[in-house]
Order: sequence, then structure tokens, then C-alpha cells
Amino acid sequence: MRQTHQAPDSITIVTDRQSSSGVFARRHGRVRTHAQRLVTHVRIAMGVRPTIAGVTAGGKRQITLMTTFAQLGVPRDLVQRLARDGIETPFPVQRAALPDALSGRDLCGRAPTGSGKTLAFSIPLAISATAAAPGRPTALVLVPTRELAAQVADVLRPLAETRGRSVATFYGGTNIARDQRRLRHGVDIAIACPGRLADLVRRSDLRLGEVRSVVIDEADRMADMGFLPEVKWLLDQTADERQTLLFSATLDRDVDVLVRRYQRDPARHELASAPERRGDVRHYFWQAVAGERVEIARDIVRTMAPAIVFTRTKRGADRLTRQLNRHGVRAAAIHGNRSQSQRERALADLTKGRVAALVATDVAARGIHVDNVGVVVHFDPPASDKDYVHRSGRTGRAGADGVVVTLVPPDRSSDVRSIQRTLDFREHLDTADLRCLRDRSTGHRRTAAPAGRSTPRSGSRRPAGNGQRRSASTRRARNRRRGARAAR
Ligand code: ADP
Ligand code: MG
Repeated sequence: MRQTHQAPDSITIVTDRQSSSGVFARRHGRVRTHAQRLVTHVRIAMGVRPTIAGVTAGGKRQITLMTTFAQLGVPRDLVQRLARDGIETPFPVQRAALPDALSGRDLCGRAPTGSGKTLAFSIPLAISATAAAPGRPTALVLVPTRELAAQVADVLRPLAETRGRSVATFYGGTNIARDQRRLRHGVDIAIACPGRLADLVRRSDLRLGEVRSVVIDEADRMADMGFLPEVKWLLDQTADERQTLLFSATLDRDVDVLVRRYQRDPARHELASAPERRGDVRHYFWQAVAGERVEIARDIVRTMAPAIVFTRTKRGADRLTRQLNRHGVRAAAIHGNRSQSQRERALADLTKGRVAALVATDVAARGIHVDNVGVVVHFDPPASDKDYVHRSGRTGRAGADGVVVTLVPPDRSSDVRSIQRTLDFREHLDTADLRCLRDRSTGHRRTAAPAGRSTPRSGSRRPAGNGQRRSASTRRARNRRRGARAAR
């Protein structure tokens, strides 16, 4: 695999709690503080825009300065258009692909679903497309399904329109006369499924000779669905001097044929198949008799919010929510008896900081996709290792660090030990100790497995418990051992 030049992922500044809390205060329109000035200085000096990650560690706040779209070469009008939709920080596939694609190079990208490929090609396409004569688009996106065509159009259209370019979708099962009318008006960028596009070409409603920018999206699915002969027939009619961007979840033999035949020295970017970067997640298992659990949970939430707290039952979730609120910690419940709008409101409350904790049951958790969850608390221990992995996966998302605490009543300790054994944790329960949550050198760690997989591929055989420090060198040594194990 060859990697071309890439901007750094992010730069992180850690400030002390006192001054950085001012940064948070300022977000709510109050004082300007030392830390805010620091952020401004860095922004001016380095040209990067700060994202403040609400990660608390050792009483410190982390301010992460991310690579921006502008730094990757995206023109300002498009940067502003993206920002209007809340898209400010490029995803890894975008960081990898944009510099090459914007330089006009062919590109062959392998990345998993949900990694953000659509923007990675929509931005360059919106820029490279030129004004089309009737029936002669200048840019083409080939997609396997009509759903995908519609999705791509939703992402591409606002960018294209910012640049004064028109977009239209073409796929079967729709009125072809409408397609013909639109083409007569002129379509700059065509997003099409191969079948309907070939139809329009055969009827001479559309010619591909002016197409100088081509995207083949989901090339593997295109191959699976038997579209390759049509795709080739269409590509053969596009301009010779052409930029071709190809995206696929796999780059096997069929797709490779397209790469070799239709791409010129493409930049290759292959992203790992994990759909998101996982941060460093520390796991704690604390003994807690029933009477103590609410107070411990409250203290954890206070220390590490935003939090997601899991209970076994819906009634348990409602009860704990009331108890937390009574104890001065704002919480909202999310479970099967609550309506979709109540759930959505609860999620929004957590993201916006209006509540510190969501109290959830397992089923409800499947719909929770919130970044920057500081801690997951298993108030009731999970029923299985699978549930443990799934619940715990709510933190440590999008590269942020996270903490997971399981509160273990005496009658559940043997279940929890068996979960520890399966997931390759040390079988051990500690006494509750809030101080160690802030100390990043403590806790059990394992390589987080994606939700739903019951056995981790790797894990630490001798993780540190409460208060036990592990130096960077032992960590490095362990990683080496792990690497060696994995290589075997
Ligand atoms: P893929 O084509 O790789 O499966 P998509 O392009 O459909 O992935 O993107 C997945 C989701 O991520 C979409 O909901 C999209 O809006 C969102 N997304 C993509 N890039 C960004 C970004 N830079 N910032 C925020 N959200 C993004
Ligand atoms: Mg896609």
C-alpha cells in the first residue's frame, strides 16, 4: 500500500481544569480566559481550528486541534457550505483522499461503509465539473442502486450548486421522458445506475464524450450485481483525458480489472476495516453492594460526564433516573417504553449537555450513536460478554478516550468474572475508587472489539488494576508481544 502525503490527524493541548473550564464557560457566552486565548494563539499560528473534546483526565481538559477541510485544499466557499451542515472535521478517508483527488490524480480507495467516502469524491467532483452542453454531462458518478444515487445526490447537490453546477440522478423504474427533458436542459453532473445510463446513451439522449471526471462508487457491489460489462461499455465512451476515482469496500479481482483498465497510476488509499477509530478505553470492575450503587454511580457521572448508565430493566432505568435527579445529577431515561421523540430528545439533551447522564436499557442502546461519551457505567452488570462489549462501545468512539465502570453486587460477581475471562481481562474486582478514574495510567485495557463480536482478538493478560501504574516502556513491550502474537 502506498500512502501519499497526509496532514496530521490532530494536535492535542491539555490544559488544567481551572483555566479550561473557562473555555467551556465561554461557549455559553461568559468570560474569556487564559485557555481561550491559548486556543486563539494556536489557531492563528498553526491555522487549525480547535475542537474542544470534553475529556477529563487527571483533572485536565483536552483541547484537540483537528485538521480542517481548508488545510486539505478545499476552497473556502465549499468549506463554508459544509460548515452550514455541521461538517467541519474531515474523516480519515477524506483526509487521505482529498489532497490527491483535488490535485487531479486518479484514486483508488478502499474503505468500509459509513467512513465518509461520498464527501471524499463529491468535493473534488463539484470543483472539477464544468458547464455542460445539453445531453453532454461533464462529470459522472456510477452507483449500483437507486437508493445510493439518491444519497449521493443529497450530499453532492449542495456542493455542486455552490459552484453553479447542476446535478441529476438517472435510474430505472422512473419515467424516462423526464430524464430526457432534464438532459435537454443540460445536466453538468450525472449520478446514474449503469442500466438506465446505458439506455439513455443508446437512445442518443446522452453522450459521454465530454465526461472528464468519473466516480465509480461501491465498485464491489457493482461487480456483484453483474454490472461490470455495462460499466466498461460506458467508461469506454468517456473522454480519454479523464480523472477516475474508484471506491470500493473490497479490491478483489473484478474490481482490480477496472482499476487496471480505467485508471492511470492511481493513488491508493486503504483504510482499516474498523468503521471508526477507537480511543484508549479503560475498564474498571468495582464491588458495590446494592445500597451503595446509586451514590457511586452519581459520583462517577459527576466526575466523567457525559455518561451512559445501563440498567437491566426499564423500571430500573426509570428508578435510577429519578434517584440521580434527586441526588443532583441531571439524567434522562431511554428505553423501549419511551416514544421515539422522547428518545431523540434525551439523546439531544446529552449531546447538548442539558443532562449529564442517559440511563438506558440494552435494547435502547442500539440506537445510541453519540461521540464524546466520557464514561459508560454498567449499573447492573451486563448479561453476557456480548452485551458488555456492545454497551461499552458507546464510549471511546471517534478516537476519543473513554472509561467503562462495572458495578458488581456480590451475587453477580461470578457472572462478571466469567465475562472478564471471556474478554481477556484479569479476573479481579476492585473496591470503588473515584480518584483512579481521572488517572489515565490505571484501569484494565483491551483492544476494543466491534460491538457484537463476542471474543476479542487480542487483550491484555496482565492489565493493571486500580492505582497500578504501567510505564510507557512496559506498554510498548506488551504491544510488541501482542504484535508478535498477532503475526503468528
Ligand atoms: P460511506 O459512503 O463511506 O459508506 P458516507 O459518505 O455515506 O459513508 O458517510 C457516512 C455518514 O457520515 C453520513 O451520514 C455523512 O453525513 C457523515 N459524514 C461524512 N463525512 C463527515 C464529516 N467530515 N463530518 C461529519 N459527518 C460526516
Ligand atoms: Mg458510500
